[in-house]
Amino acid sequence: MDFDTPITYLKGVGPHRAKMLEAKGILTVEDLLYYLPFRYEDRGNTKPISQLAPGETATVVGRISVAQLFHSRSSAMRMFEARITDGSGPPLVCKWFRGDYLQSILERGKQIALYGKVEWDEFAKEITIFHPRYEILDAEDEAEGNLHLARIVPIYQAAGKVNTRILRGLAHRALEAVPPDEDPLPESIRRRIGLPVRALALRQAHFPEAEADLRVLNDFRTPAQSRLIFEEFFYLECGLALKRRKTRSVRGIAFSLNGRAREKIKSILPFKPTAAQKRVLKEIAEDMSQPSPMNRLLQGDVGSGKTIVAIQAGVIALENDYQVAVMAPTEILATQHYLYFKQLLEPAGYLVVLLTGSAKARDKKSLKRMAAEGVAHIVIGTHALISKDVEFKNLGLIVVDEQHRFGVMQRFELLRKGKHPDVLVMTATPIPRTLALTVYGDLDVSIIDELPPGRRPIFTKKAGQDKVEQVYSFVRREVEKGRQAYIVCPTIEESEVKAVKAAQKLYEHLSQTVYPDLEVSLLHGRLPTAEKESVMERFNAGEVQVLVSTTVIEVGVDVPNATVMVIEHAESFGLSQLHQLRGRVGRGAEQSYCVLLTEKVGDIARERIDTMVETQDGFKIAETDLRLRGPGEFFGTKQSGLPAFRVANLIRDRELLEAARAEANAYIDNPANAKDLQALVKYIREKWQRRYGLVQVG
Ligand code: ADP
Ligand code: MG
Repeated sequence: MDFDTPITYLKGVGPHRAKMLEAKGILTVEDLLYYLPFRYEDRGNTKPISQLAPGETATVVGRISVAQLFHSRSSAMRMFEARITDGSGPPLVCKWFRGDYLQSILERGKQIALYGKVEWDEFAKEITIFHPRYEILDAEDEAEGNLHLARIVPIYQAAGKVNTRILRGLAHRALEAVPPDEDPLPESIRRRIGLPVRALALRQAHFPEAEADLRVLNDFRTPAQSRLIFEEFFYLECGLALKRRKTRSVRGIAFSLNGRAREKIKSILPFKPTAAQKRVLKEIAEDMSQPSPMNRLLQGDVGSGKTIVAIQAGVIALENDYQVAVMAPTEILATQHYLYFKQLLEPAGYLVVLLTGSAKARDKKSLKRMAAEGVAHIVIGTHALISKDVEFKNLGLIVVDEQHRFGVMQRFELLRKGKHPDVLVMTATPIPRTLALTVYGDLDVSIIDELPPGRRPIFTKKAGQDKVEQVYSFVRREVEKGRQAYIVCPTIEESEVKAVKAAQKLYEHLSQTVYPDLEVSLLHGRLPTAEKESVMERFNAGEVQVLVSTTVIEVGVDVPNATVMVIEHAESFGLSQLHQLRGRVGRGAEQSYCVLLTEKVGDIARERIDTMVETQDGFKIAETDLRLRGPGEFFGTKQSGLPAFRVANLIRDRELLEAARAEANAYIDNPANAKDLQALVKYIREKWQRRYGLVQVG
C-alpha cells in the first residue's frame, strides 16, 4: 500500500463508506492522511468528575448511568439528560435541548467521552455540561481501544456517517500500512526551517505524542502541523512561480518612454501626484518598457487615486501608437471612467469611446468599427468588451478595474484581443501583500498606501431605524449648506428586481414626502444607459442634491461636493461593501459624514458596523472582513481561482505562507541542479496541478 492506493483497499472502507469519504475529497490513502483532525482532546489526563470546577472546559470519560428524555409542560421542547459516573463521586449531568434523537444513541451503560464547558446548575444544584460534544467509546474493534482513550485524541470532521471515531481508526490503519517513503520536500529547505520529515509529521499530526502541548496543537503550530501546512503552501507557490516564469518568457510590447511621452504624462495631471502614486507609476512604466507582457495588480484603498495612475499608464501606450482598453464591472463605473478619461485625454488629442451592452445597436456597430480601425484610441466598457465581435487594431494596454468582480478567465479573454498586451488590474480590496500575490497568483503587485493630501476622516455614526427622521433632517441641513448626499438602499442578495423595487419605494417616499422641495434622483442598474448617464452627469454638476441609489454607486463615483452617505439597513451589507460606499464621500475639503441606519442587528452584523464606526483603515477593514467571512467567500474562490487548501488556512497560517513563498521563489530561481527542478515540476504536475488548477505549470 502506498499514497496512491485507492481508499477502498483500506480495511474498514466498503463501498458505502467510500462514497461518503469521496464526498469530502478523500479518494486515496494520501487524501486520507492529509485529512487532518480539526481539534485535539486530551483524554490522557482527564479529570475525575469530582474535581471539575464550573467555568472550565474539560474532557470527561465515564459511563452513562441514567439516560432519559424530559418533556417540559410549558413548551414542546424536550430535553435529553444523561448522568455520567466515573466512580469519583456524584455523577456529572449532561443536558441537550431538543435531544429526542439522542435516545437511541446515548444508552445506559455505554462508555462515553464528553467535552464541553462545565457549569453549575443553580436550579438543580448540580455540576452540568450543556450540549457537550460526545463520543461513544464502546469499541467495535477492541484492538483499537487504545486509540480513543488515555491519550491526546484527534477529532475529525465527520464525513457523512463516517464519524470521528471511524476516521481515527482509518487514519491509524493507513499510517501503519504505508511504508515511510522519501520526503518530496527538498531536504535543504526542510532542514533550514527545522521541519520534520513527512512520514513523522503525518503520524504526529494524527496521533500526537503524550508530551505534546495541547494548546499548541489546537493552534496548529506544532512542528508536525507546520510542516504539512508549509508543504502545501510551498508547492502552490512553486507552481505560481513557474507559471509566472512562463508568462515572462512570452514576447510582448516594449513601450518606449521617451521625453515626449514623459512630458505628456505630466501635462495631463490635474494635481500633484502623491509619493505613492509616483512610485507605482514608476513600477508600471518599468514593466511596460520590458519586452515581456506586464501583469500587474494595482492595489489601493478607496479614494487613493488609482484612476489617474491608470490614465498615465494609458498615455505611455497611446504615445507609442497603441490602443488602450478599460474594462469596468458596471455600466455606471464604466461611464464614470469614460467621463474622467475623456476630460483628461481629449484635450491631449485622444479619442475616448464608451462601449457598453445597453448602447443602441447602431451606435455599437460604429463604435466597434472605430475600435477595429484604430480610430478610437481608448475604448472603455463593461464586459461587453469581451464579446467576440469587438476587435482592436493594435491593443497595447488593458486596464481592468475592480478585479474581484471579474473572473480570471475574463481577463484572459480580453488578452486575446491583442498580441500579448500589457495588463493592469486595479482593485480597492486591500489585502496583505502575500495574500494578494497568492490569490492573484500570476500578478505582480503595486500598492498605493497613501491618500491624496487634505483628506479628513469621515465622521461615521450608527443609528437605529427609530432615528431616521433626525438623520433625514441632518441630510437636509447639509444640502442647505450646498452639499450633496447619497442615500443607499438595502442590498437584497437574491434579487436585483427586488432591490430596484426597494429603491423605487424609498425614492418615492423621499422625493414626495421628506424632500418635496429638493432635487432628488434615483439611480439603479436597470435604468437605460442614457438615463444613467444623465443622472450621473446631473449629480456631478451639482444639480441633483440627494441621490437615492442601489449599490451601483459602490465603486467609482467621484463627486467631491457630496459629503453625506446614508446607508439604509446597513446590517444587510458586507463590510467591504460598506467601506466602498463610505469611500464615495470625504473626497473634498469639507467635513463628510456616513450614517449607518440599522434595524435588528445580529452579532456578526454588529461587528461589521462597529468596525466601520471605529476605523477607516481599509487594510484593517479588509482583515476583519476576511476573518468574518473566511477566505473562500471573501475572495470568491471560483472567481479568483483560489485553491481549496486541505491543511493550510490562509488567515491562520499567514506567516508560514510568507516563508513558503520566499523559499519557493528562491528554490525556483536557484535550484540545486536541473534534475531536482525537473523532479519538482513533475511532482507538482502529478500531485498539485489538478488540485490548484495551476494550468501549464513549467
Ligand atoms: P480610487 O483609487 O478609489 O479609484 P480615484 O482614482 O477615483 O480613487 O481618486 C479619488 C479622488 O481623488 C478623485 O477625485 C481624484 O481626482 C482625486 N485624486 C487622486 N489623486 C490625487 C492627488 N494626488 N491629489 C489630489 N487629488 C487626487
Ligand atoms: Mg476607482
